[in-house]
Amino acid sequence: MPMDTNILHNISYGMYIVCANRAEKLNGQIVNTLFQITNSPITLAVSINKNNLTHEYIRAGKRFSASILSEETPLAFIGAFGFKSGRETDKFVNVQYRILESGCPAVLDYAVGYLEAKVICEFDCGTHTVFLGEMVTAEVTGAGRVMTYDYYHQVKRGTTPPSAPTYMRIAAATAAGPAMPKYRCTVCNYIYDPALGDPDSGVAAGTPFAELPDNWSCPVCGVDKTKFVPVE
Ligand code: FE
Repeated sequence: MPMDTNILHNISYGMYIVCANRAEKLNGQIVNTLFQITNSPITLAVSINKNNLTHEYIRAGKRFSASILSEETPLAFIGAFGFKSGRETDKFVNVQYRILESGCPAVLDYAVGYLEAKVICEFDCGTHTVFLGEMVTAEVTGAGRVMTYDYYHQVKRGTTPPSAPTYMRIAAATAAGPAMPKYRCTVCNYIYDPALGDPDSGVAAGTPFAELPDNWSCPVCGVDKTKFVPVE
């Protein structure tokens, strides 16, 4: 029988910040594996790596919140929640959030809304635990298109659609000379593409890696230029 795991790239996901708390301690992380499972009652399932601090806190507080991110979410914001551990940094500094009645936090920045679920059971899935929760709180706090996992990879990290205002500048930069090498972050695998620049950090399309300012850092995980290697 065929076994082509490429099929998995065709499964769709969203982009969420899932938060939990242990008493006064708060943590949150980026999650793409969050799904509504039933409607009566409304239940949601989320898959969390057992090594993550959020896993520990969901078990402790028996709650989790999920903030649904919009397409406007900057890479750096996703990076702060997705590539850093709450054991080393306080992820809530300079972030707008709400403490719900249960004590569980919910992030408000760049979110179109959030929900909170009370854990009713969990499934041991080896590296991960799937928590099943019943929705107990939900609020729409913003508008805009929600970010899909595919959008995050295809648009935020690499290519740009022809409808984007930067598209013509990219074409001009590419046409002006030989292709400039791309560089890959060895920590998070973000690709710096000179043709695209890093608009979130104010770096114009057409800027070679060597001309990035010394204080430039990976827009996803925050490490400095020395952690990058040329692609190919
Ligand atoms: Fe990185």
